[in-house]
Amino acid sequence: MRLVNVQGRAGIAVGDGVVDVARRSDGRFPVDPMAALATWDALAEWAAGLRRGDAETALDDAALGPPVPRPAKVFAIGMNYRAHAQEAGLEIPHTPVVFTKFPSCLVGPRADVVLSSAYVDWEVELVVVVGRRGRGILEGAALAHVAGYCVGQDVSDRRLQFADKPPQFSMGKSLDTFGPIGPAVVSLDEVPDANDLALSCDVAGERMQDARTSDLIFGVPALIAFLASMCTLEAGDLIFTGTPSGVGSTRTPRRYLKPGEEIVSTIESLGTMRNRCVAG
Ligand code: ZN
Repeated sequence: MRLVNVQGRAGIAVGDGVVDVARRSDGRFPVDPMAALATWDALAEWAAGLRRGDAETALDDAALGPPVPRPAKVFAIGMNYRAHAQEAGLEIPHTPVVFTKFPSCLVGPRADVVLSSAYVDWEVELVVVVGRRGRGILEGAALAHVAGYCVGQDVSDRRLQFADKPPQFSMGKSLDTFGPIGPAVVSLDEVPDANDLALSCDVAGERMQDARTSDLIFGVPALIAFLASMCTLEAGDLIFTGTPSGVGSTRTPRRYLKPGEEIVSTIESLGTMRNRCVAG
């Protein structure tokens, strides 16, 4: 199942079309994508019966909002790819390095990214969408709490992030439009192995990041177990799992986003986001 947000209404992408969840189900399922997410198991069962011919409208990526528009929590993990930790000159962490992206930064898969300075960087990431509430979740049971995955960009203003010591990860990564996610929440049955997916980021047509999630230091089950040992996870909570090597701030010379450039973020089995940069 691929859950999308079409102008604030929950939809299921079927082939190259979309089925409106509330209309098609005669109100059995809600209009709001957050409320629809909270019914994940029943929704998936219902959606399994949909066929290509059921789509009412063509799937227009430009009309899509963030598939999870208002999560209670957005966790993000720093330094979670071996090659990225190496390029940043840092040791491999022993426990996950966690910060927050405030939910107000979330935008859709085709939204503009508003550049706050000349030091804004890209970070393509696998994003986990929690589907079932839980606390004290064991690694072996972690995937039962996952609704699915989407592509994410952890856009980062490095000047704000590293303005002083210690660095301010959360603020530098939470400006409005700094959290594109999408294009859909893709359920686990459509993702053969989240621990071995190709992910890439192109900027202005140049391949900047090209990696596989098999390079993750802490995989999805370990992250869920770690976070749920401290916080109750709720349906809709997001986990940005960290970015691989190839960000602009570690290049020689350093390279940042410019107005007019397009960021193309792709993850195997999940899809592609295209976000244009505009001057702040
Ligand atoms: Zn990141």
